[in-house]
Amino acid sequence: MIQDIAPWKLRIEYEPRTPAPEDFVFDFNREGLLLRQGESLSFPTLKEWLALPGEHGTEQLIFAFRLEHEEEKEREMRFFLVLRQPNCEIPVTEGWERLPAKALWGYGWGWPAFAGITAFHLHSWYSSRRFCGRCGCPALPGEKERSLVCPQCGGVEYPSIPPSVLVAVRDGERLLLTRYNRPGTPRYVLVAGYVEAGETAEQTAAREVLEETGVRIKNLRYIGSQPWGLSGTLSLAFSAELDGSDAITWDKEELSEACWMNRKDIPPVPNEESITMKIISAFRHGEW
Ligand SMILES: [Zn+2]
Repeated sequence: MIQDIAPWKLRIEYEPRTPAPEDFVFDFNREGLLLRQGESLSFPTLKEWLALPGEHGTEQLIFAFRLEHEEEKEREMRFFLVLRQPNCEIPVTEGWERLPAKALWGYGWGWPAFAGITAFHLHSWYSSRRFCGRCGCPALPGEKERSLVCPQCGGVEYPSIPPSVLVAVRDGERLLLTRYNRPGTPRYVLVAGYVEAGETAEQTAAREVLEETGVRIKNLRYIGSQPWGLSGTLSLAFSAELDGSDAITWDKEELSEACWMNRKDIPPVPNEESITMKIISAFRHGEW
């Protein structure tokens, strides 16, 4: 899956570090992430980024994360994020391009895609919380932890990571699949939805399946989780069994289709980078 980047391991814990010339820089703006032009994802180093035209400097950078080599602990890559004011842009010059964050998904897998998507999650949070939500004063990054602190009222915000739930409902040899009712989502997926205030993830699973498809579930089992930086969420995946009637009444506003599909009729998935596709593929191959 997208977060499986062995032999590298994400070390997301915040460290108040000073960037070094060989460290990597994530520079997002409205057009996307600054990358070296080429076939693969390649981020500018601090040295390269500083040499680009425009007014920018290391005071705009904040530590994002490290990638640590699992076997050789002294090998690591460090990444910093640009916290830029909206009106301060770096023009794209020869040899560089900007790619929308969504395009990172599908640009080849491995640590660069996961690093770029995780950086996008951090960028989305920092850039949408530039002002304190209570008093409107410009917020400042916390010094010892990944937070935003209001110098006026003392309010503190931490990265927003709302949990969502995925449910793979089976009835014998059949799996409950849905398709979203919006352009660009032709694929079959699993029932999914956000956890609401006051709910347990288990209650969300039962509610979302009932709301989206009209069926009830039993024997809910936790499968695993996946960070999904493009939407800034954490997906919690479950399997469940049909409880009672198999009659489907799908939510026409949200879905274009919901159906029970026999194991042998499930089309191959394009990749197994998302936990949804991995679960569907495993069912298709008779692994559960
Ligand atoms: Zn405030």
